[in-house]
Amino acid sequence: MSILAKANAKKLLKDLFLDEPGKIDLYAIAGCENIFIEERDLSACEGELVFKDSIGIISVDRKLVEQGQKKFTIAHELGHYFNSGKKNGSYFCSGLDIRGIKQSISAEVDANDFAAELLMPEEWFRSFTKGKRFEKKILSDIAEYFGVSLSAAAMRYAEAGSHPVAIIMSKDGVVKWSRINNYFPFKFIRTGSSVSSSSYAYEFYKGEKISDEVETILADAWFQEDFNYKKDYFLFEQNIPMYRYNAVLTVLWEK
Ligand SMILES: [Zn+2]
Repeated sequence: MSILAKANAKKLLKDLFLDEPGKIDLYAIAGCENIFIEERDLSACEGELVFKDSIGIISVDRKLVEQGQKKFTIAHELGHYFNSGKKNGSYFCSGLDIRGIKQSISAEVDANDFAAELLMPEEWFRSFTKGKRFEKKILSDIAEYFGVSLSAAAMRYAEAGSHPVAIIMSKDGVVKWSRINNYFPFKFIRTGSSVSSSSYAYEFYKGEKISDEVETILADAWFQEDFNYKKDYFLFEQNIPMYRYNAVLTVLWEK
């Protein structure tokens, strides 16, 4: 996670005396900076920020139906503004960038880091998840408490959670990136490898309806190349599909 982006979000929360998730009003934060927020139909982007001469506008794609995703998009655009030091600039952000499917442009990753820290501050996140065993419900509890999407909750958990968890982003049947926390028994998934036919995520790429239930799976489906690979080692797998982008965020944790 970008230290600077995280520090920018922390400073903003502190400056505005925001001390609980319910008090974070992105419209008010933007208003204080002379930035207006509108919803309109965007074609190639899910969010945009144009800021020039002390005035700005954030546009959010009207087609976004999920409130958590909309909120994250606005926070992402605010991230560009604060991370740039409030400089004039224009940002046209695709869903691939905002949803973290693609992680190749550092300004986009930094804007996501800012958004994650603003909406799910590390300290609050740790105290909310402390002492709770990881299970399917915890992701929906996090998403509800912080007002974010399930995928944003899962990505944050892989960074700041305390239970052994790995998350894998795949698109078009290929692993794009993975994030594995320190407590997880396996550490290596090859970026660019094909999603294994023995995983549940593979069903999505076969065009089958993907279950939103937790499934039990052998570690072989994801970690055959891992140095610590063990035979007959079972994990839980839950998948969060992103139909519009033919992508899946897979969450794995220890049984
Ligand atoms: Zn962006």
